[in-house]
Amino acid sequence: MPNRISRRKFLGAASTVAVSSLPWNASGESAFASATDQPPASSAATDRMVDMHVHFDEANPNFISDLLKVCNSLNLTACVLTHFPSRNIVAEAARQHPREIVPFGYVDLDAHDAVQQVEEFHALGYRGLGELEFVKKPFNDPSYLPVYELANRYAWIVLFHTGIVLRAKFNEPEDVASGRMRPIHLEEIARRFPKITVLGAHCGNPEYEWAAEIARWNPNVFFDLSGSTLTKMRGRLADFRKLFWWSGSDWGTDTPSGDDSAYVKIVFGSDVKVGEIEGVVQQYRAMFDACDVPAKTRQMIMGGTLARMLNLPG
Ligand SMILES: [Zn+2]
Repeated sequence: MPNRISRRKFLGAASTVAVSSLPWNASGESAFASATDQPPASSAATDRMVDMHVHFDEANPNFISDLLKVCNSLNLTACVLTHFPSRNIVAEAARQHPREIVPFGYVDLDAHDAVQQVEEFHALGYRGLGELEFVKKPFNDPSYLPVYELANRYAWIVLFHTGIVLRAKFNEPEDVASGRMRPIHLEEIARRFPKITVLGAHCGNPEYEWAAEIARWNPNVFFDLSGSTLTKMRGRLADFRKLFWWSGSDWGTDTPSGDDSAYVKIVFGSDVKVGEIEGVVQQYRAMFDACDVPAKTRQMIMGGTLARMLNLPG
């Protein structure tokens, strides 16, 4: 039908009108609008990687200096996921090294003062929350909404653990369940709070199909492939084609920079000790090769998408 407007064109037109529903970056502009409207950054800037998933290690007194060395050698910016007691150390490190360190705050969603902790993270210059995990109720439980409302007001990125979670104590009871952290719960959060960029860690392991479909339909949802996902799938990396299947079609949602590759819904996250980050970079690249991910999409996955959302210095 020659006069039928394609769904992608329709979504593009609609997003121009409904721009206030899109995630907004730190400078107050839509992250996706800026990705579309701004001229491309220099190649040096676009080659910079952004790792969404670096846990601050309280047990390592040299963590910041160790991380800075890796950032310099890999040309990497790290989103450092920080527990509340370490908030000042990481805030100060981020002030001193804004090109290398972006502070993200971990809150226990079941804590009675979770909202106050989020407010304090914000006052210290934190850029988002994560990794939210070990919840006592499903992620979409109404008791957690005040934290999400605040994150929505701040237009923050929120990194959620999704899927199977470690068992810390094999012989003692613990109130932990992977089923509370299923990727399907992120859909409701993304739709109720459109200014939050909802980022799911581990791509829902093993519910990859649900994770990919939720990312497909929601412009504010992305996943990283950290954890055991790339390791356990190392012999069948081409299977990611079956999950991220809609490239070049009208069946995906609005994306950063208008990229119609399904893989642009993935971002780089390592979730390993700083000395092991480079190995995860290699694992991502092996997946790109196995799935013929286009060069411009690889750049967005490895750093471009997060750099634009966070308005990072070039
Ligand atoms: Zn996790």
